[in-house]
This record gives sequence, C-alpha cells and structure tokens, in this order.
Amino acid sequence: MQHIFVLGDQLNLQVGPLSRADPAQTVVLMVESIAHGTARPYHKQKLALIYSAMRHFKLTLEAAGFTVSYQACETWEQGIAAHLKTYPAATLELMQPADFGIAGLLEEIATAHGGRLEIVENELWLSKDADWQRFAKGKKQLRMEFFYRQMRLSTGWLMEAGEPIGGQFNFDADNRQPPPKDHIFPPKLFFSPDELTRQTIDWVIECFPDHFGTLEAFNWAVTREDALTALEHFLDYRLENFGPYEDAMLSSESQLYHSLLSPAINLGLLTAREVCEAALERADRVPLSSLEGFIRQILGWREFMRHVYNAKMPALRSSNGLEHFAALPDLYWTGQTPMNCLHRAVTQLLEIGHTHHIQRLMVLGNFALLLGVEPQQLNEWFLFGYVDAYDWVVTPNVIGMSQFADLGGFTSKPYIAGGAYIDRMSDYCAGCQYDPKRSSGATACPFTTLYWDFIDRHSKRFAGHPRMGMAVNAWKKRDETDKTAILERAGEIKAQLAPRD
Ligand SMILES: Cc1cc2nc3c(=O)[nH]c(=O)nc-3n(C[C@H](O)[C@H](O)[C@H](O)COP(=O)(O)OP(=O)(O)OC[C@H]3O[C@@H](n4cnc5c(N)ncnc54)[C@H](O)[C@@H]3O)c2cc1C
Ligand code: SF4
Repeated sequence: MQHIFVLGDQLNLQVGPLSRADPAQTVVLMVESIAHGTARPYHKQKLALIYSAMRHFKLTLEAAGFTVSYQACETWEQGIAAHLKTYPAATLELMQPADFGIAGLLEEIATAHGGRLEIVENELWLSKDADWQRFAKGKKQLRMEFFYRQMRLSTGWLMEAGEPIGGQFNFDADNRQPPPKDHIFPPKLFFSPDELTRQTIDWVIECFPDHFGTLEAFNWAVTREDALTALEHFLDYRLENFGPYEDAMLSSESQLYHSLLSPAINLGLLTAREVCEAALERADRVPLSSLEGFIRQILGWREFMRHVYNAKMPALRSSNGLEHFAALPDLYWTGQTPMNCLHRAVTQLLEIGHTHHIQRLMVLGNFALLLGVEPQQLNEWFLFGYVDAYDWVVTPNVIGMSQFADLGGFTSKPYIAGGAYIDRMSDYCAGCQYDPKRSSGATACPFTTLYWDFIDRHSKRFAGHPRMGMAVNAWKKRDETDKTAILERAGEIKAQLAPRD
C-alpha cells in the first residue's frame, strides 16, 4: 500500500502524489487537529473554512476510491501515531509543507512512532526552487519585478517572440485609479453552506467561542467545485476592471474588482497555475493592463513572497530593524475608533475575515508602522485575523513588505502614507471626523500627523534614502512651531490609543 499524508492546505487531487496514485492501493492520512485551531485566537471564519474544506476533501477522496485515514484528534502527533498504529512502519509521502519548520517536526513525529516521512516536491507552486536559485544568485537586492520578468520568460505567459506583449512587462502606471463615482459593481457570488459546512460552523461556534470575528455570513468556497465557480465568476465579471481599481477602497463595496480567491488558492482547492491559465484564456476579452496586473499578483507577488520567506526564515520573523516596540491598539480587535478607514477595515475583517490588499497595506499596516507598533504583534494579528493567512504568506507581507522591519530586504522603501493618500483612493475621509489635510490640532488626521512623526523619528536613517530623502528634507524645512505642534499632537494620539487588555 502507498501512504500519502495530506495537510490542510494541500487539498488537491490534480497535482502531486495523489494525482498519480492508484486509489485502490492508497491510504490517505489527514489529521484534523484541535490544538492547531486553539494555538491562536483564529478568526472563526478561518476555522470553519479550513475544517469544512478538510471534511469535504475527505469525502472527495473517498468518492475517488481512496481509503482515508481521517484522524480528528487533539494534536498532529496523536493523529500520526494513530495512523502508524493501524499501519505500522508505513512510509508517508508528503508534499513539502509551505510553512517553516513543519517538515522537520512531522518527520520527527513519524520517526518517533516507527514510521517514515518522505518529503516530495510541492506541486501546488508555480515556480521551483531552481527558479529562485537562478534569480537570487549573486543578487544584492531581491526585487519582485525582476523575479516576475524571469517567470514571464520561463512560462511564456503574455510573451511574443521573447518580448512582453504590449511592449512592457508591467502596466501598473495604467492602474491605481481612485474609486469610480456612481458606478454599478458586478453581482456578487453567494454560496449557501451545505449540511456539512453548517455542522462545522456550529461546531466552531461551540468549540472556539472567544475567537476573533463572527460567523454570521460565511461565504467561502469549501470544495473544488465551489472554488472553480468562484474563479469563473471572477473572470466573467471582475477581471476586466481588476487593474484600474486594484488600489481603490469604498465603504459600500468591499470586493470591488478583487478576486477573493486567496483562501481557495492557499488551501490548494485551486492551483496558482490553473488560475493564471484560465485568466490568460480571456486575453482577447479583457484589457492587457488588467490581465497583466492579475497575472503579476500570482506569478509575481505570490511566488516571490514564498521564496523570500524560504530564503529569509527564521530571521525574518524576529526582524525589528526600525526598533519599534509600541503595543498594537485595541481598535485592531474591536474596530471601535473614530478613524473611519480603520473602523471600516476592522469591521469588515471581523465580519468576513478578509480585506483587500490596499486595506491591509495602506490602512492597517501603514497605521501600525506610523505608530511604531512592534512588527511581531502585528504579524500575530494578521495570522489569526484573516481567512487566507498562513505563516509563509503573512510573515513576508507583514514583517517585510508592510513594516519594513528587515530594512528593505526585498522592498525599496517603507509603505507609509498620510491621510491624503487614503482620501484620494477611498471615500472613507468624507465620513470621518478628521481632516486628512491637517497634521496638527484636534481635527488632524492621525495618519497625517503620525506620518510626520515617523519621518521625524527616522530622519537620520532616511536622510540620504533615494525614495525617502525628499520627505525628510521637507520635514527639515518646516517651520519649528509647526513641527512642535505636529509632534505634540502625535504624542496625544499615541496616548489615546489604548492597547489590548
Ligand atoms: C500586510 C499584508 C498581509 C497580507 N496577508 C495575506 C495573507 O494572509 N494571505 C494571502 O494570501 N495574502 C496576503 N496578503 C497579500 C494580498 O493582500 C492578498 O493575497 C489579497 O488581498 C487576497 O485577496 P484577493 O484574493 O481578492 O486578491 P486579488 O487582489 O484578487 O489578487 C489575486 C491573487 O494574487 C495573490 N497575491 C496578490 N498580492 C500578493 C502578495 N503580496 N502576497 C501573496 N499573494 C499575493 C493572491 O493569491 C490573490 O488571491 C497580504 C498583504 C499584506 C500587505
Ligand atoms: S481622515 Fe484620516 S483617519 Fe479619517 S478616514 Fe481619512 S485617513 Fe482615515
């Protein structure tokens, strides 16, 4: 008999050992561990999603003729031990786990219980380790754009005769538009939870009552069929406008033209390759700037982040190059704040476990960075707060991209902005008691005030920085009375932000 161990984020029959196995000759081990769910106060939607997707995948495997050894227990160790008791000395094939340290941990457990773990390539990824080695070799700076270009060349996607279609690799300059006015957004897709998902939701509410978020409106794909429907729906209705409104934020519309596919891709219900290939099939129907923008998110950013994570762990996790030690404010748990942008983002997160990229980077991440929050506290919050969160994707995005805690290991500058940026890209400021243009006084936007406070705090570090130097010079030239008023207001804002009890 062949034994295949499938982790909760590898739920795919189309690739890897499962795709080549003879179901009649294969036992599949899946371990549903409660300890995993209680390790952090994970969003209830995330727990319902993962546990329901695993339970559905068990049924899919059985329908395909596999014998499934589904171990619902306290810990991974108990699950593996129970399997090896039934099948002594089995060799378990496992696709390389995405998160750091998991392969070694599982190997130890399997060996301790008389079995063996054989780690094989994780075919859910689009790129291979060799692609990264070729890219990173001898490079002082790791930049997504150049990795992405290499991947475009090697996949041949959006390429013609060795050149990028449209004459350039990246059409971001055509994107990044503010939200459209009086616009009718395409219809949303709704899944009604089946019996198994409803049972799982009830079970999560019962077992994890104090966890983050609510489970009132669960609308995530838990099977491959649902995920394929979500993919088609995105391609039919949203891909066309994905590029222009990628960075826009609106109070009345949470999805805009985003795909909401990250939970399904990260679980393995969809492969990154098939998502890109399906989008490329629409090349004659959608603008190149949107198609290229979408492909870059997956072929570029998603793959790049995963390789950066592999290359820089474990040091990346504890980086704190800007020496920020403030506590993450309580508002990240409650959404209760007069700052409308933060109120909207956290409230949406509590309700559905998801916000889009710019809310993550330029509202939630930006505010924590300006405030000087300890990056590890924010990383933890992102890890438990989002339905699509896994260490391999959260840690590089939060510690590196959003908090600049590795001092630019793979980003060229800190992603900071005052209220003017949020005002341009959203309708949040119109409904806020603060004024994005003001940096001092009681009505000053805290983002604007704290932006200058950040520049003041780090002026020495960024004085000669090619992309930050201008802001430092502008601050230096400012009137001393202005500066004092801004720094005083910054002190008041910080004092008012209560940490979590
Ligand atoms: C602070 C911070 C935290 C983040 N945490 C997560 C996380 O927990 N899980 C997660 O999957 N992504 C995370 N991202 C990346 C990105 O914000 C999400 O992938 C995206 O918002 C998911 O929504 P979507 O599927 O509608 O994406 P779309 O806008 O439709 O983009 C399409 C796909 O591109 C991929 N993608 C785009 N940007 C990135 C990126 N920077 N890193 C990895 N994949 C990317 C995702 O697979 C996404 O589904 C984070 C980004 C930041 C700045
Ligand atoms: S004014 Fe400032 S705090 Fe208020 S919504 Fe705009 S950016 Fe956010």
